[in-house]
Amino acid sequence: MREALRARLDRMRAAIRAGGDAAVLAAGLAGLVGADLAAQERTGLRPMLNLTGTVLHTNLGRAILADEAVRAAVTAMASPLALEFDLETGGRGQRDDHLRGLLVELTGAEDATIVNNNAAAVLITLNTLAQGRDAVVSRGELIEIGGAFRMPDIMARAGATLVEIGTTNRTHPKDYTGAITPRTGVILKVHTSNYRIEGFTAEVAGPELSQIARAAGVPLLNDLGAGSLVDLSHYGLRREPTVAEAVAEGADLVTFSGDKLLGGPQAGFIVGRKDLIAAINKNPLKRAVRLDKIRIAALEATLRLYRDPDRLAERLPTLRMLARPAEDVAAQAARLAPEVDALLNPHGFAASPCICASQIGSGALPVDTIPSAGLRMTGPGGDAPDRLAARLRALALPVIGHIHGGALILDLRCLEDDAMLTGALAAL
Ligand SMILES: *Cc1c(COP(=O)(O)O)cnc(C)c1O
Repeated sequence: MREALRARLDRMRAAIRAGGDAAVLAAGLAGLVGADLAAQERTGLRPMLNLTGTVLHTNLGRAILADEAVRAAVTAMASPLALEFDLETGGRGQRDDHLRGLLVELTGAEDATIVNNNAAAVLITLNTLAQGRDAVVSRGELIEIGGAFRMPDIMARAGATLVEIGTTNRTHPKDYTGAITPRTGVILKVHTSNYRIEGFTAEVAGPELSQIARAAGVPLLNDLGAGSLVDLSHYGLRREPTVAEAVAEGADLVTFSGDKLLGGPQAGFIVGRKDLIAAINKNPLKRAVRLDKIRIAALEATLRLYRDPDRLAERLPTLRMLARPAEDVAAQAARLAPEVDALLNPHGFAASPCICASQIGSGALPVDTIPSAGLRMTGPGGDAPDRLAARLRALALPVIGHIHGGALILDLRCLEDDAMLTGALAAL
């Protein structure tokens, strides 16, 4: 408060020295200090509108939780609960037990464990299976995911020696069999979730690779990344391998994220063979990467929604937004364009409906886009899209689009309430 007042007083004195009208400047002082304080109080974590077209935007916090999950998280935050406590016997319980049964049911795996995120899931699994040993992986799958998650670095931190096999575009069964030695701790298959190698390519599919692994007595880990629990083609999207399929193909362990296609809070799941899950749970790293009660409660509520597939797309925001038909979004764009245009005109900008392409985001189905629609915003000068983008970011409810073809595009796929956008823009 004092700092804000002092800063404004300094500026007012400077303005008076420069010839400003002291009475006028003083009259405006209180309002300016009030606005400064309000701006300071506005947290960077305030709600915003993700109209980027990327539904699972990592930099914007990925999945929006279902109402059921939000309520469960709020309850968990505000109250003690039986996190590691058995209500029947009064004895000690296991925090993972709240999720284990649901994960086993939904994936067909023998057992499951849960950690902080999928990066941690891969790290602890490699460390458990291959510390001081070899981890065999195809050169076509040595991925980097944003934020410095590089498979070779994770291997090194897990204490495993990376054994690269095959080439960038082609890896064959004999490459795997030729690399397996008594030193091999794990064969790793990585879903190349954020790029695609096309043309003259070959990879060893899951079922064949699991036979190779089984014959050699070496566990096969399949890092799925986005890891959907449902067949996305039911919702008009391209098929991604589901977790249950990866399990059925014979992977000994499968890892995937909680906040990508699954639509929950940040988490990493490891599902698969009971003996291997037990070994992971005994690893001291498990304690370092465990989940808190808030996320466990939200995950339980999220996973429960999957028991009712008919209502899933309605209740799970990630799926609801991804499954929205393009015509539906186009109708919304046509409806909103005149009102948004009228709000922009006084500021020298204009808006019109356009078609555009959404993405799932978070590395899922990287090359595929989903037909969508939005608002195309233009103004005078080459820097108009940047200027408008900056003004929309500064709103009390920030509105984030993307710049394309000399315009600022607001993809409306993730706008579920028209009034949120018009209300935000009214404050321009
Ligand atoms: C996203 C991803 C990860 C990392 O998952 P986080 O939950 O973001 O830690 C690891 N592997 C693959 C294949 C991924 O797509």
